[in-house]
Amino acid sequence: MAKDVLCEVNSCKYWAAGNNCNASSIYVVSHRGKQANNSEETDCKTFEPKI
Ligand code: SF4
Repeated sequence: MAKDVLCEVNSCKYWAAGNNCNASSIYVVSHRGKQANNSEETDCKTFEPKI
């Protein structure tokens, strides 16, 4: 489990109760490959939709 990662994206298969992330690690990227200037311009690439 990624340590101390809080996430509210509950449509992700790694999401767990309490806004915890169950992925062993996460990869955060800039939104659409552009240089990020604030947190809203970053994305979690580890996201996978719940089936
Ligand atoms: S993998 Fe990313 S989107 Fe999914 S729960 Fe973890 S931090 Fe959130």
